[in-house]
Amino acid sequence: MAENNAPQENVEGTIEKMMQFKPFRHFDSHGHAGLEKAGIADRPGCMDFWCGNSVVARTMMGARAVMGDPNPFAIIETAEQCPPLTPEVFVQSMDQANIEGMCLQCIHGVTDPYPGNPDGWRWYVPNEYVKKTFIDAHPGRFTAVGGVHTRYGVQAALDMVQSAYECGFPGLKFHTATSGYPNQQEMYPVYEKCVELGLHVQFHTGCEELPGTRTKYQSPLYLDDVGMDFPELKILQLHCGIFNNMEMGLWNVMKHENMYTDIVIPMPTLMRFRQYFDMDHIRFLEFFMPDKVFYGTDYPMTLPFYKAMLDNIMLMPISQEFKQKLTGDNFRKFINWQSK
Ligand SMILES: [Zn+2]
Repeated sequence: MAENNAPQENVEGTIEKMMQFKPFRHFDSHGHAGLEKAGIADRPGCMDFWCGNSVVARTMMGARAVMGDPNPFAIIETAEQCPPLTPEVFVQSMDQANIEGMCLQCIHGVTDPYPGNPDGWRWYVPNEYVKKTFIDAHPGRFTAVGGVHTRYGVQAALDMVQSAYECGFPGLKFHTATSGYPNQQEMYPVYEKCVELGLHVQFHTGCEELPGTRTKYQSPLYLDDVGMDFPELKILQLHCGIFNNMEMGLWNVMKHENMYTDIVIPMPTLMRFRQYFDMDHIRFLEFFMPDKVFYGTDYPMTLPFYKAMLDNIMLMPISQEFKQKLTGDNFRKFINWQSK
């Protein structure tokens, strides 16, 4: 009977398991640079997030309101009318939410032609811009992945990989919505190069409301080929196929040892419900892939509720251990992040 009287300080009760009793700095695995006001007209596609009467521009009205636009529901058309977003606004939001670092998406993308745009819609956020304006200007707060596509040929795509590598980025991002199927043969030399250089590749899956983007390219189904053909490549399946084929997205991560996913939402006001507020979904992730899922936000798309989103996760009745993995440690490990 003596054992029963032994001190029990190492045994956690329910309350200790659920409460955030230790301060924890989070990591945002997915934010977007490029929408800053300074020089926005020089970065193709970026003004389309704020300007015109489109789904994405209407969604960004909340962010405009937070940044002081007295008439955020007015349709705007010029660079001058864009809100005063700067890298410092990013840092301020991160500080308020106790987020240590953010991984920014540099983007290279050109869509298929569509009526009214025979050359396709172009989205371009250069690696060098993000490195200089965010990473170097705010040490310890940002990292990034470089954009890549094969619309300009295989050699141009390999140059994009080299550029990301030289910038010191941990990986690449392939925006399927603009750039086509992830299992297209032209991309295979890119994946080989990434394995060689130790870079991971992020793939957009799910849905996308940007001009000229096609839903078929974004199905997680086509990522299965890449997982099969490149077992050495570390793959981050962005958005887990939301609104397209989320079950397949979940299956990819369970099937492939080299595949990871996130709970990022490409269109907050329409899509946030499932991934951020659905207990069944979060519990599924906790049960089947606790080490392979990342918290991310698509900031500044989520600027108006940046802290509230995270608070919601931290208040969910899931284990403290999983909360810390999900909102920080899993992604830090994935990119080998060294805290400053
Ligand atoms: Zn995104």
